[in-house]
Amino acid sequence: AGFAAMGLRPEILRAIDEMGYSQPTPIQAEAIPYVLKRTDVIGIAQTGTGKTASFTLPMLDILAAGRARARMPRSLILSPTRELATQTARNFEIYGKYLNLSMALLIGGVGMGDQEKVLEKGVDVLIATPGRLIDWFERGRVLLGGVEVLVIDEADRMFDMGFMPDVERIVSLLLGRKQTLLFSATMPPEVRRLADRFLDHPIEIKV
Ligand code: AMP
Repeated sequence: AGFAAMGLRPEILRAIDEMGYSQPTPIQAEAIPYVLKRTDVIGIAQTGTGKTASFTLPMLDILAAGRARARMPRSLILSPTRELATQTARNFEIYGKYLNLSMALLIGGVGMGDQEKVLEKGVDVLIATPGRLIDWFERGRVLLGGVEVLVIDEADRMFDMGFMPDVERIVSLLLGRKQTLLFSATMPPEVRRLADRFLDHPIEIKV
């Protein structure tokens, strides 16, 4: 079945169409219906499999219903590196171009004044590296109680880079969290423990 059969909004289908994608990749075909049903997902997939769109597309669909409040992001994507965070932001922009959602990017070296203004107005999607997000949280510049959907992307790299304590702390702060998606190329014991601790009856998809 194609993207249309998954029930994604026309605005999203139009953006997908413009990208020239004819079929979902295997991770997309498996993950998107579960994300839309608000199930927790563990996706074991490498970069290059289309894993970014497997969470971006259904999240855009979910977020299109609802409105952001000042300083309270509705969704959070944690990325281990600035490069990945930037790439993920680009995905949200491309697939979300026909939706009216707002996004902020909290990473080292990005014009923080601009991001501050965006956050102040309210963002649907916040993409951040863990250290930078904690820094902003501690300064009271971002509130985390309104995050409903959390993505932990490249969890194995988070562990390799020593970010696991930061990630665990952030997840513990997300009191309004309803859905968690964890992506990782591999499942070392530390990532498995993170998933066991924070995901609720997840479906596990391996491609
Ligand atoms: P990712 O694994 O998320 O880094 O995506 C790898 C590449 O696959 C990106 O350049 C995407 O634009 C592309 N891509 C994602 N989904 C599809 C699809 N369904 N059909 C063709 N290309 C895709």
